[in-house]
Amino acid sequence: MSRTTIETVDPATGRPLATYEAMDAVRVEAAVERAHAAARAWARVPVAERAARVAALARTLRTHRDHLARLTVTEMGKPVGEAEGEVDKSALTAEYYATHGPGILADEPVTVDGDVDGEVDGDGDVDGAEAWVAYEPAGLILAVMPWNFPVWQVMRFAIPSLTAGNGVLLKHASNVTGSAFALQSLFVEAGFPAHLVTALVLADTDVPETTARLIADDRIAAVTLTGSNRAGAAVGAAAGRAAKKSVLELGGSDAFVVLDDADIEKAAAAAVRARFTNSGQSCVCAKRFIVAEPVADAFTTAFVRRVERLRIGAPQDRTTEIGPLARDDLRAAIQRQTKESVAAGARLLTGGEPLPGDGCFFRPTVLADTAPGMPAFDEETFGPLAALAVARDDDDAVRLAEATPYGLGLSVWTADPARGVALARRVTTGAAFVNAIVASDPRLPFGGTKRSGHGRELAAAGIREFTNARTYWVA
Ligand code: NAP
Repeated sequence: MSRTTIETVDPATGRPLATYEAMDAVRVEAAVERAHAAARAWARVPVAERAARVAALARTLRTHRDHLARLTVTEMGKPVGEAEGEVDKSALTAEYYATHGPGILADEPVTVDGDVDGEVDGDGDVDGAEAWVAYEPAGLILAVMPWNFPVWQVMRFAIPSLTAGNGVLLKHASNVTGSAFALQSLFVEAGFPAHLVTALVLADTDVPETTARLIADDRIAAVTLTGSNRAGAAVGAAAGRAAKKSVLELGGSDAFVVLDDADIEKAAAAAVRARFTNSGQSCVCAKRFIVAEPVADAFTTAFVRRVERLRIGAPQDRTTEIGPLARDDLRAAIQRQTKESVAAGARLLTGGEPLPGDGCFFRPTVLADTAPGMPAFDEETFGPLAALAVARDDDDAVRLAEATPYGLGLSVWTADPARGVALARRVTTGAAFVNAIVASDPRLPFGGTKRSGHGRELAAAGIREFTNARTYWVA
């Protein structure tokens, strides 16, 4: 393993922000050892005490809201109001698990008097036996996280996992290393034991090898990754080789379906929010807009009009709606997807080019007449690029919505919610929203199907992912 440095850069200006020394093998080993010891001790802390720390975390998050938001704005360029919203949502999630976590994790009694069929099965008399399911801590979890919501992505995993009695070994995205250290300190300030949440800083070249080695390490119980399919496949393969549990929250190419009876102005306004939040860099951003033929022209006009009004600028400016992309290679990817789709027959309605200057800005872009076979339709577009396609009828809308290897979310717009739900049932995704845009909520499970990953975060399903659902039988 090489010892080298990581430099973070402000994507709005191209200016360097800070330099961090990557950990060598000796420092990684020491960090894992300390984190493992902290996780073992934490697992013995009663759940009520763990929940009290999580409640304190909510307060600490609110205290440091401005600092955290400013840090994420400079590291990855999101508009400041959205950065504050991310901290607020993390605090709400901490409150949710502080309140509901102990109940979700409580022992579940199971009646075992008699056989499952109500018959005597010959295995002996079970009368009077007691049985229950306990949700016990899994151990130290490796969390490989992305930069697009530097606070929320970490908190969405860490809050339930800590409530469940686990430790967190955090490998955050290298371009948000400052955020990783800020979060590590935040947990300590909230009263969590030192090292229970430990940030690892790895040199780029070491990431695949070191994460695979950690996953195979007996001190690591399981792994979760939020990120690209490429990284998810690498981590999932390493978990498979080690026969360990993994949760993978990967990319998406969500369809936003507008049916012929939808309120077009309302749908167009929601479509802009659904596509351009976080400057288009969210896994659950709507990416493909599938519009019924009779309303296609009206929707396109209303949508493009709103897109052209979006204010692009410095992310610290409160009037900015679109900031820079987080890295130059991400902007290059959006530009390539736009160009190749146009070459394949898509029509550029607006945008389609970077802004001049040092920042990684790209104009909000809309392509019409997209179809399977074009990058804007087939690939995940992780930036301000919307792909429109026209559907002949509901069956055609289902066909187009399903024509993707991804399966994260779906949003359907219609005057008839039952029709929207019926259509949603025919499309494979981890979440379906009717007359609302796809979003995560601590009260509901979040996760993908198909190549968008497996496993769930949030709600009861999310906290139980990294527990040992243990059977007790006492005769
Ligand atoms: P990424 O390149 O996959 O990076 C995510 C994390 O994985 C980073 O910490 C990265 O480390 C690490 N990583 C990269 N290659 C790895 C490998 N071979 N083995 C182990 N770890 C590896 O993704 P990104 O560009 O940061 O984030 C954008 C992607 O994340 C999009 O596809 C988006 O849809 C997805 N995402 C999904 C969800 C969801 O909940 N489903 C949420 C947010 C984002 P380095 O930074 O050091 O390279």
